[in-house]
Amino acid sequence: MRCLQCDQEARGVCKFCGSGVCAAHAKRARFVSGAGTVRNPGTALVVREFLDYVIVDNALWCGTCTIRPVYSG
Ligand SMILES: [Zn+2]
Ligand SMILES: [Zn+2]
Repeated sequence: MRCLQCDQEARGVCKFCGSGVCAAHAKRARFVSGAGTVRNPGTALVVREFLDYVIVDNALWCGTCTIRPVYSG
């Protein structure tokens, strides 16, 4: 796999979009695994709640994909 931006050999994969990132273009962003609730698309009923999750403050980020945090109540 190669870097999304410079076509060099990737050193890792963006945690958010899955693109390859080389060491020079790697950035860090806050990643929270699956926190919150999952709602049924049709009824908006909560079908599952995540009460345990992890927060990674320096997860690998490609620097180009748009991270849009969603906070539930
Ligand atoms: Zn690069
Ligand atoms: Zn990305």
